[in-house]
Amino acid sequence: MSEHKKEYKNAWTSYTQEDLKEVFAYADRYKHFISENKTERECVRTMVKEAEQAGYQNIEELILANTKLKAGDKIYANYKDKTLILCCIGQKSLEDGVNLLGAHLDSPRLDLKPNPLYEDTDIALFKTHYYGGVKKYHWVALPLAIHGVVAKKNGEVVNIVIGEDENDPVIGISDLLIHLAREQMEKKLGEAIAGEDLNICLGTIPLVGEEKNKVKANILKLLYDQYGIVEEDLVSSEIEIVPAGKARDYGLDRSMVIGYGQDDRVCSYASFEAQLEVVDPVKTTVTVLVDKEEIGSVGASGAHSKFFENTMAEILNLVEEYSSLKLRRMLARSKMLSSDVTAGYDPNHPTVLEKNNAAYFGKGVVFNKYTGSKGKSGSNEANAEYVAELRKLMEDNNIIWQTSELGRLDLGGGGTIAYILANYGMDVIDCGVAVHSMHAPWEITNKADIYEMKKAYVAFLENALK
Ligand code: MN
Ligand code: MN
Repeated sequence: MSEHKKEYKNAWTSYTQEDLKEVFAYADRYKHFISENKTERECVRTMVKEAEQAGYQNIEELILANTKLKAGDKIYANYKDKTLILCCIGQKSLEDGVNLLGAHLDSPRLDLKPNPLYEDTDIALFKTHYYGGVKKYHWVALPLAIHGVVAKKNGEVVNIVIGEDENDPVIGISDLLIHLAREQMEKKLGEAIAGEDLNICLGTIPLVGEEKNKVKANILKLLYDQYGIVEEDLVSSEIEIVPAGKARDYGLDRSMVIGYGQDDRVCSYASFEAQLEVVDPVKTTVTVLVDKEEIGSVGASGAHSKFFENTMAEILNLVEEYSSLKLRRMLARSKMLSSDVTAGYDPNHPTVLEKNNAAYFGKGVVFNKYTGSKGKSGSNEANAEYVAELRKLMEDNNIIWQTSELGRLDLGGGGTIAYILANYGMDVIDCGVAVHSMHAPWEITNKADIYEMKKAYVAFLENALK
């Protein structure tokens, strides 16, 4: 290794046969997770199930029973099936701070409007309202699936997944045929497909005996027969339209993963596995997986919500005598890896990144000292001392890592949840993996990077930094 200028290594060249087996096995588990879990609710439910199997207990029950927690105890807090906090109590006092991993579970998609269903020329359709930063032209002419919940007035919540089983039908949004697209092709890319054009084709068979809107009536009958829901129930639903199908190996050498929702489930899943893997930590370990990052981390289930702070207060209270001062010390003395994806250098789009400060496929987990746009605006910037500690931690644990900025200056930019937790005074750095086609229906990551990321999280949770 160079003593002076850091040469970022290609992780693939460092692997033994044994390592490669682990790299691919991890990628298989991850692919399975993102194939089965395409909404924040699905992610939280699956993670709660797996956490319980690993000995995590529901904090609500512990509060009710007034249980006292000790080192090694594991708890989780599930906020409305959208945000999840996992915690393993360490040997050190909570006042010394916790080692915190954070990532988000929501991904760009198309949501249904409150009154979504209509009929036009004997075709039934859903109106959608896109969620997060999507290029609308990505969402036409591909098979889509329906995932979500419908809450009925009687309190029942119906789960819906249509389009993932091979024998399921899929749905989709039609594009204009090239033969008649002269006007469309002359439009700017961002305007060629408008938000109100993202209407989903649901069916064409009229219901016999109906007077009007017969096709819509037939779709409603199908929904009623299958799920017991009526049109009005859609007002109290959260239905997400996502790409249909499983995540797959990508590249002839199978070195990459193509899948939906990798921003930011690639980091959420790595954080989750690391959290479960580390038992009996020195410092208390916490993983917080939030919702609503893609729309500004707002709302009750977003990173700005008091849910995190309240849960940390409850945890403190379950371990020792609570005080507000102790809570504040605990938060201020914590260290965080705020995990989110970053732009990977892409030979198809070489000009948007500055080569010396870009993230590259295969070069491991990425640390971004800061994000933001227009002169670091809106970013959390990690302290130099903290970055140095992490460099040492990575090198001591043989973890391949690299550093990057999101892109060339003044082309755009973006933020993460890092600055929100940094408000408590804790050390926070942005950390994650490089992605190609970020925010497209099918995003691409590199298996070496996601493996190194998971190793980095385990090392971070296991080691009590200063
Ligand atoms: Mn993200
Ligand atoms: Mn994003």
